Amino acid sequence: MTHPTLPMSTPLATSRDPLNQMADGTIKQLNPFSGTQVWTVPGRGNRPLSVPKQEPRPLEPGDFTANCNFCVDKQLNTPPEKSRMVNRDGHWEIQRNLLPHQLSHTEAAFRRVPNLFEIVSYDYWAQNYGFTMDESRQNQMERYLADDEGRRHVFNIVRTRLKASGRDDNVSEDELLAHVPAYFGGGHDVIIGRRHYTDGAENSTQLASSGSLSLDEHYAFIAFTIDSMRDLYEHNRYAPYVSVFQNWLAPAGASFEHLHKQLVAIDERGVQADIEIAKLRQNPNMYNEWGINYSSYHNLIIAENDHAIMCAGIGHRYPTISVYSKSPTPEPWLQTEEEVRAMSDLLHAGHAGTGAQVPCNEEWHHKPVDLDVPMPWRINIKWRVSTLAGFEGGTKVYVNTLSPYDIRDRMVSSLYRLREEGSIAGNIRIATECAPPRNTLLYNPALNR
Ligand SMILES: [Zn+2]
Repeated sequence: MTHPTLPMSTPLATSRDPLNQMADGTIKQLNPFSGTQVWTVPGRGNRPLSVPKQEPRPLEPGDFTANCNFCVDKQLNTPPEKSRMVNRDGHWEIQRNLLPHQLSHTEAAFRRVPNLFEIVSYDYWAQNYGFTMDESRQNQMERYLADDEGRRHVFNIVRTRLKASGRDDNVSEDELLAHVPAYFGGGHDVIIGRRHYTDGAENSTQLASSGSLSLDEHYAFIAFTIDSMRDLYEHNRYAPYVSVFQNWLAPAGASFEHLHKQLVAIDERGVQADIEIAKLRQNPNMYNEWGINYSSYHNLIIAENDHAIMCAGIGHRYPTISVYSKSPTPEPWLQTEEEVRAMSDLLHAGHAGTGAQVPCNEEWHHKPVDLDVPMPWRINIKWRVSTLAGFEGGTKVYVNTLSPYDIRDRMVSSLYRLREEGSIAGNIRIATECAPPRNTLLYNPALNR
């Protein structure tokens, strides 16, 4: 029996092997979760990744703090801050709902602000669902508007928004006020890192990327993003899913070269997730069977630690590495600090091994809050390097220059080097040092361990 929402062109995962090597060396891949078909043609995988070359420009002091609207000197160029991650005597602490004059009292390692241009707007929720912000958000909006500097700030933000959409920004206070709720009750947030360039950078190519953060900073980034995800679910009962992603560099869709993630509360799970969930109902163990076990049998495990594991992705339009949480707890915000740190360490290694110059998307996947079937928290890093132009449009078969084996080889050699240098977590096991037991992802209670 097939699920009614499955398109006919999507074969079930078990009907064909995800990896097929042809006699000439062509590797045909079938993504066991999405059904995406990808071919890798031989002889191209060893070439350097074709990433856009940037001309280095010497940096001036202002570049570190005022280069873009996400930089620390421009904190009022973003909408009112919802929360920030602060390091106090070696401990991470989340501060919420600050007013403009309080922003300079602490150094924010990461800030969470509403996106100036929401993908899914506050009006969308208000008009389609009768959504109104809850009391705590309402109180913060009133507090902010009652503060002189706060009021000026949020009105300036509204004017910026109006101007950018080609509208007249010379409007009455009532009209300005009408736009304000979007910046307190909305569900599209940005998490912004502190640095634009790495400490001590000398030229404009030395951007502060995920992989350049210290392990502890990267953990704070992940823990703070998880807190924001939990918070978005909590404040919008109409949202079954919060999408989390990071676009790194312009070819990957980033509008600023300043490290940031985005979170968007949405009112559906997405077509791809629906297909995947239908398969999961048929095979609750599929993330073990078709994810990690299969990778392990084909020597595609790149690295692991005690609570997370990384493998080369199969059947992705762009070369992809996947990091899975081994935790029995699907919800990231319910996992232990140790589990989140392990996931963060491996993700950090994934970025460091990829290299800051490679444009990439980081995509989080987790169990939608209203889904009854457990699934593991997992994160894909997709390298947005150029692929061969081909017959994708007509056939829906994508041609990729790197096979999963090429991705593994690149990652494994850079991870050995980075571990040797001490730039990634020292307790990460790499390639042949990994010996995951079968069914190492513990999300599936049917395995009853
Ligand atoms: Zn910046």
